Amino acid sequence: MLILSTKADKVFVKYPHRESRASYLLLRDQLVKVMIDEWEVFRNQIFDDYEAQHHTLTCHYCKRSGLVREIQDPCDRSQLKTLATIDHIVALSKGGKKYDRENCRISCSPCNNKRGNKGDTHVL
Ligand SMILES: [Zn+2]
Repeated sequence: MLILSTKADKVFVKYPHRESRASYLLLRDQLVKVMIDEWEVFRNQIFDDYEAQHHTLTCHYCKRSGLVREIQDPCDRSQLKTLATIDHIVALSKGGKKYDRENCRISCSPCNNKRGNKGDTHVL
C-alpha cells in the first residue's frame, strides 16, 4: 500500500497497483484536493479572525476595504480588484512558511500580484 500524507489527511491507494500510471494520477488528484482543502481552511480562518476584529477585509498595502473572499468571474479585472488574498511576507520561493500566520497578511489581488516574491521591504 502506498501512502502519501499531508498535514491534514492521508491518502491510501490499494488498487490499481501502486506503480501504475492510473495509481499515480489518482494519488496526485487526491493529494492536490487535500492540499487545496487545507489551504482553504487556513485562509478562511485568517479572514474570519480579521473580520471579527475589523468587520471588513482590508488590503494591508493599499488600504482598500470591503474585499471579498470570492468573485464570480476570475477573468474580470474589475472584480479582481476587490478579491482578498493571503500575501506571504516572506515569499514561499524564498523560504517563507505557507501556513505560518505570522508570515501572512491580507492583500487585494492587484497588490499581491505587484509584490510577487519580493521581500517585505518592497514598497508598492
Ligand atoms: Zn491592495
